[in-house]
Amino acid sequence: PFDVLVVGGGPAGAAAAIYAARKGVRTGIVAERFGGQVQDTAGIENFISVPHTEGPHMAAALERHVAEYSVDVMNGQIASALVPAAEAGGLAELKLANGATLKSKTIILAPGARWRRINVPGETEYMTKGVAYCPHCDGPLFKGKRVAVIGGGNSGVEAAIDLAGLASHVTLLEFDAKLRADGILQEKLRSLPNVTILVSAQTTEILGDGAKVTGLVYRDRESEATRTVELEGVFVQIGLLPNTEWLNGAVTLSPYKEIEIDRRCHTSAPGVFAAGDATTVPYKQIVIAMGEGATAALSAFDHLVRM
Ligand code: FAD
Repeated sequence: PFDVLVVGGGPAGAAAAIYAARKGVRTGIVAERFGGQVQDTAGIENFISVPHTEGPHMAAALERHVAEYSVDVMNGQIASALVPAAEAGGLAELKLANGATLKSKTIILAPGARWRRINVPGETEYMTKGVAYCPHCDGPLFKGKRVAVIGGGNSGVEAAIDLAGLASHVTLLEFDAKLRADGILQEKLRSLPNVTILVSAQTTEILGDGAKVTGLVYRDRESEATRTVELEGVFVQIGLLPNTEWLNGAVTLSPYKEIEIDRRCHTSAPGVFAAGDATTVPYKQIVIAMGEGATAALSAFDHLVRM
């Protein structure tokens, strides 16, 4: 059996595997796609001490760094179920979609998350060419430009407030007849001079010139009119979905389906730890996921020492 078995090969999982291996314990990592969301990122400019890098470049570096250690890397493998140890000090079982079962004294869950898409024409075509999902990451690219935020929940309204400080103008579009964000956020948003709020607005298409975004089309659900907004960027903020469906009750999840963790990355199941975007950690960022991966590995090692 493994001492530490990591699920996920993104920043959190890679950091966890390296920290565990450096303790000299038997470490494995199961990843559906090594690199995770980093693979889908164009420029990364907030990874501290590296002013600029590209996603696929960082993903390859993560993989190379893990390969420096004696870690059993199972790339291209999907975890399909987790059975935590029945008693303290027992072995947890991780079932894979290929039918295999792996056993380990501790498990670190780092399966990440995915941004919910709006699924309209132009969204996929202009991803990283004006269509963005992460205001902390891509906001500065739209300095002095016109942007839209799709989604009037807390994350959409927070994004619009954040972007209003950088962009020349922000249009917020909400499908529903009213915003769903907390009152205090709505108040702040309404106080900003360069923000337009559109409710009952269904985004139907993202327009572009082949190279970059030039506008979006929405249907006013009250008047049935179709309107176009000219702009350079569209931030889709309709939810971040943690990749936790397969856990099926093995550990406690929050109402948003995030794995509940404490400050030491303990989950509700003894011997099972978690890190990164799949957890309740506030703010979903690469540096944060890596730090949490390190914490989870050190906690797993602590658990091994005590058992
Ligand atoms: P992920 O990166 O999501 O990795 C999850 C890993 O788990 C993957 O290897 C995946 O294949 C694997 N996995 C999932 N389910 C299973 C399963 N059942 N079995 C086996 N493996 C599984 N952050 C920044 O700090 N700066 C940026 O500039 C930035 N830009 C971004 C741009 C885009 C387009 C996106 C989508 C995100 C961006 N982010 C950025 C956010 C950042 O990518 C995430 O915060 C970070 O990748 C989270 O790391 P993670 O390890 O928790 O999860």
